[in-house]
Order: sequence, then structure tokens, then C-alpha cells
Amino acid sequence: MSARGGVVYLVGAGPGDPGLMTKRSLDLIASADAIYYDRLIPTGALDGAREDAELIYVGKQPGVPSVPQAEIGERLVEAGKAGKSVVRLKGGDPFVFGRGGEEGENLREAGVEFEVVPGVTAGVAATAYAGIPVTHRDDASAVAFVTGHEDPEKAETALDWDALAAFPGTLVFYMGVKRLGENAAALMASGRAADEPAAAIERGTWPGQRTVTATLGTIAETVEREAIKAPALIVVGDVAGRREALHWLERRPLHGRTVVVTRARAQASGLAKTLRGLGASVVELPAIRIESRIGDDEVRAAASAIRDYDLVCLTSPNGVKLLFEALTAAGRDARALADATVAAIGPGTARALAAHGIAADVIPERFVAEALVEALADVDVEGKKVLVARAAEARDVLPDALRERGGEVDVVALYETVREAPDEKAVAAAQDAEYVTFTSSSTVTNLLEALGDRFPSQALIVSIGPITSATVRENGLEVAVEAERHDVDGLLEALLADAAAS
Ligand code: SAH
Repeated sequence: MSARGGVVYLVGAGPGDPGLMTKRSLDLIASADAIYYDRLIPTGALDGAREDAELIYVGKQPGVPSVPQAEIGERLVEAGKAGKSVVRLKGGDPFVFGRGGEEGENLREAGVEFEVVPGVTAGVAATAYAGIPVTHRDDASAVAFVTGHEDPEKAETALDWDALAAFPGTLVFYMGVKRLGENAAALMASGRAADEPAAAIERGTWPGQRTVTATLGTIAETVEREAIKAPALIVVGDVAGRREALHWLERRPLHGRTVVVTRARAQASGLAKTLRGLGASVVELPAIRIESRIGDDEVRAAASAIRDYDLVCLTSPNGVKLLFEALTAAGRDARALADATVAAIGPGTARALAAHGIAADVIPERFVAEALVEALADVDVEGKKVLVARAAEARDVLPDALRERGGEVDVVALYETVREAPDEKAVAAAQDAEYVTFTSSSTVTNLLEALGDRFPSQALIVSIGPITSATVRENGLEVAVEAERHDVDGLLEALLADAAAS
């Protein structure tokens, strides 16, 4: 509850790309008691909501029964009067064809406080993502946002087609697909030139954004032929012709390509975000999940006795995170590693160590166990106590080699990777994938076992390195791309090179 009693926030969620949500919208979503949301809000828009927040869908979908507007109004009033902090979340901007005005009036009448949080409206966002500037020094000194589909209950049309035809600038039609034929004809009948450039933008800023261009005279048949569906904007104006020089979305290196990320959910976000930034549609299909084992006796014993080890080897960023959790649980901190030589299998692991104030002494150039063995060649392990802290299912290359050189090696499993049940929606979305990325052998085996013949066999497999590739081949599949550097950045580089070549 806020200090001033209930407040209803009429919030714009932007046109679809989650990155276009405002900071204020995210802050309010994070603190709301209740969120009444529409259909066209960005994927994941409610992820930051409180666990105990009420999330209530009140969207409207053409042809499907929905909560009537009057009832939405009543519910907002009720929630406001109950003293709640209420977010009314709408696509785009709440005051641009969003009925935010009506809802505000209704709240004021009922004596409920409200605030308005503007959002990025489709009319400027979808156009910008399509490479169409709604104004331009040479082509358009004004822009009009027009509804292409008025309230069917209205008796008379409010649109003055003569005035719109004479409007000295760009016309942007919202809700304009259904009546496009009639509207274009009305504009031309009122004198707008048939050869004026026009465009239609479907699902602007969403992963599947599509744009078609034509002229005012041909836009209706083009939209029909290309099966452009709502939500879509229709743009009429010379600026639509600027797209050829200004389109940028389609130029991104992975535009239009679907890439499956199979890493554990907790680790996938960085890779997924980078891929999305390069234009890919990312399907997160985690094959594995990390299960901590730091409660096990062997881990607790190793953490308590950490000062006794002369050499501590870590083989993944996860391992680092969990080792420090185990140290904390044992009442210790980074100082317990002060006298040990610390080896990291690669730069990711070294970075994770650095975040805890430990600069790794040994980091091999290639990120496989064999390379770490080589890199440790100069470290004297004869008679020394060595701790290898790693995943339960890791290979024994490193401990075996260190034992052979006379080390007294303790191996502890900080975590184990277990199979994650596949999400059906993600499996369906993965079927058209162009690339499936694998960052470890365990992701390969677990995903293949989980999917069976639903593995998208047409997809090109991108592997992080030779060990993962071998597991792919053992399972009867081909590796299309293998990273030269065996970390996530190396995998990305290899994928990009392949995409550029094809
Ligand atoms: N308040 C919203 C508009 C809601 S009206 C805003 O400010 O954007 C719904 C119409 O908006 C759709 O029929 C379509 O014309 C347009 N629209 C909304 N999101 C869109 C998108 N991502 N791409 C293209 N048009 C969109």
C-alpha cells in the first residue's frame, strides 16, 4: 500500500520489444500489488512482478469474448479504493488508441488517484524498426496518427477523409488492416495520389516483424497477398520510400534466424541476450539444470580444510560460485585461498574468481582439461595437496594426470547437472530452428534423450569444442560448426561466421 492510499497507474508497455519498456514501467510493475494487463504486452513484461502480486488478464482479442470495458473500469476503481498500488498495463502508449483517457476519467469520477506513464507507441516504434522516419526534412513536416477501424458502435464516422487526404505529411493508421481497401479508396477519392509510397508493418519490434511496401493504390492488394495480419500499422507518405536506405533490422547478422540455446537456464541469459541483439529469434530449451551439492560431507570437509591445499583447480564459473558458497557456509572467505596456487580452466572461470578477489595463477589458452594439465606442467605437485573442485560428471583427465605426477588429489563434486524436462512450447518453437547450440557434452546427451525424435534434425549444430562435438557424433548427428575458442564468445563467433557465409 502506498502512503497516499490506492493509486492506479495507467502504464504503457511499449510496442513489443521488451527493451523498449520504460524504467518507470518496470519499477511500477516490480512494486505493484495488482497488475491488470492487456494482450499486446512484451514477452516477459511481468517477470519482475512481486511473487504475491495479483496478475489479471483483461485483454481483448478480435472475435473472442473479453472482459467488457465497463467491468475493467469497475475493477480498477475497486482495487484503487482497496488501497492497492495498481498497474494497468497496456501495449504502446496508454493514451494513444489505448482507452487510457476513458479509464482515467472513470477513476477521477470515482475519486481514485491515478498517474499516467507514457509508453513508446507503435506509430513511432514499428515505423522506426522498419526504417521509416515518420517525419523528414524533405518529405514530411507533420505526422498524423489515425484509427483505421473506428468503434463499430459509433453512429457517424469521425474521420474527415478530405482533410486526411489534404494533410501535409505522413498518415499512420492504427488498426488499419481490416478496412484497408475502403480507407485507401477513400483517401484516393479525396485526392491523395495513388502512386504515393505506402507500407504495412506487422508485429513491429517483435521477433517476427514483417514490412511490405507498395503505393497507396496497391497497398491493399499487397497486404492481402502477403497475408499481413493485425497488429499492423499502415503508413502512407513519401517517408515510406525512405525505407530502402534506412532499413536496419533486417541487416543484423542473425535477422530472421532461430537459434536454440540449450544451456542451463541460470547460465543461458548472457548468450540468449547477445544472440537476440544480433537479430536472432532465440528459443531457450535448457537441457540441464545445475543442482548444488555443497551440503555434501565431502564438500563441507574440503571447504573447512581449504587452507591445507597447495593447489586448487576450478573448472567452471558455476564451480567458482558454489565453492565460495561452500566457503561461506564453512565460515571462511577468499583469504582461505591466500597461500594456494589457483588454477582456472579458462577465462570465464578466471573472471568468476576475479569477482571474488582472486586472480588465477594458471589459465590455459585452450579451455579443456588437457590444456589445464599442460598449463600446470611448471607447477610442482609432487607430494602436494591438490583440490579439484568440479561437476560430478566431469572427466578424470585432470585428477589422473595430477596423481601421476605425485599429487595427493582430492576430487569434490560441487554440483551435478541433471536433466531439465523440456518445455513443450519451446520444443515446438525449436522445430524450425536453423541452429542448435551446445556448450557441453551433458547438454547434448540430455537434450537428445529428452527430445528423442523431436530433435530438429534439419538444424545446424554448433558445438563449443571437440569434446562436445565428439558427443554429438557419438549420438549419430553431424557437427556443422565447431568453435575455435572453446568458450561462449568463441561459439558466437563461429556461429556468426557460418551465418555470414550462408
Ligand atoms: N496503445 C497502442 C495502440 C493500441 S491500438 C500504442 O500506443 O501503440 C492497437 C493497434 O496498434 C493495432 O491494431 C496496430 O495497428 C497497432 N500496433 C500495436 N502494436 C503494434 C506493433 N507492434 N506493430 C504494429 N502495429 C502495432
